[in-house]
Amino acid sequence: MSLIVQKYGGTSVGSVERIKNVAQRIAKWRRAGHRMVIVPSAMSGETNRLIALAKDIQPVPDPRELDVVASTGEQVTIGLLAMALKQLGLQAKSYTGHQVRVLTDSAFNKARIIEIEERRIRADLEAGTIVLVAGFQGQDELGNITTLGRGGSDTSAVALAAALRAEECLIYTDVDGVYTTDPRIVPEARRLKSVTFEEMLELSSLGSKVLQIRSVEFAGKYRVRLRVLSSMSEADQPLAVEAASGTLITYEEDTNMEQAVISGIAFSRDEAKITLTRVPDRPGIAYQILGPIAEANIDVDMIIQNTSVDGTTDFSFTVHRNEYAKAMDVLGSKVKNHVAAQALVGDPKICKVSVVGIGMRSHVGIASLTFRTLSEEGINIQMISTSEIKISVVVEDKYMELAVRALHKAFGLEQGAA
Ligand code: ASP
Ligand code: MG
Repeated sequence: MSLIVQKYGGTSVGSVERIKNVAQRIAKWRRAGHRMVIVPSAMSGETNRLIALAKDIQPVPDPRELDVVASTGEQVTIGLLAMALKQLGLQAKSYTGHQVRVLTDSAFNKARIIEIEERRIRADLEAGTIVLVAGFQGQDELGNITTLGRGGSDTSAVALAAALRAEECLIYTDVDGVYTTDPRIVPEARRLKSVTFEEMLELSSLGSKVLQIRSVEFAGKYRVRLRVLSSMSEADQPLAVEAASGTLITYEEDTNMEQAVISGIAFSRDEAKITLTRVPDRPGIAYQILGPIAEANIDVDMIIQNTSVDGTTDFSFTVHRNEYAKAMDVLGSKVKNHVAAQALVGDPKICKVSVVGIGMRSHVGIASLTFRTLSEEGINIQMISTSEIKISVVVEDKYMELAVRALHKAFGLEQGAA
């Protein structure tokens, strides 16, 4: 008998029918003898609705009060799900983040979990009760309600699994796992049976939205066995089949895993590139450019600068497209003249495409195949950055889908190719 944490996304609990269906699924696991902790999201669309209500009253909602409002969606689903389980004759009990005490810091709207008190949950589990914990929410030291950022119930589930040392954390969602790339772009994309935690980190940070990135970081830190699987399958499918479905996130010490060289092609559309041209090449320049950007709370992704032969250098970096205007503003008003740049040029029509795979560490030729593939498609590469397990390129955004398709094919990631 294992302790299992299951998280159900908004679509999975999006209607009364679906909630009843989820209850059937949980009942199947419970009746097989497992101790169950369940973390539901709010019903689909509900968090958006709550945030919109807040914005109708206060265009930039007070962060503390926004969390008071936004956290309520999950309180509804834990209660309804507990009732549905009782209807099936099972013992179930719901808890808000506050009642468990999911202790977080005080960064409203994007709080981080510090600690989870497990005493109550353990006692219920011992008594055979199914425990439902509201996802996405916690409480700071002063008792204020906090939320963990959009998609935060993934992190709630993983944090509970870590605190309770659960056997496995199952993330039920409306897709049946993690794919080699977005199947809407490449219909031949293949579901990965397993992916390493490091690869998953790259795949989530690069815009594959299956898991909140913080949940993946959390899982890595505490080595939580994490599986992403579908809640759309028949609730009464055999437990053994369900338990082996989806995508398992593994760790390198799981040595018996057969590992492909490349596991996927990730992309992110919403990028923008900024360049200061012919900046004098001397110590302090990077700081003088990026310091004010950091002060304005703008996240920078790729940074390219090359020591020049003529004493000047072009300095380029990328930011999220939402922050492009703000970044241009900061540079135009505070930085350009100060660093004596010749020009400030920006391009909000770029995207980033990345080849991700842990096998890159031990295989040569991945970069050259990436570049050859893009060149054969006539796609110009504007920036390149690499890490041990990824190669990212910035290209014009109209070429994004072409680049993803071509790379997916070049690395033999389609169904049946391996
Ligand atoms: N309900 C929250 C959201 O929509 C948390 C979650 O679903 O994970 O962001
Ligand atoms: Mg989600």
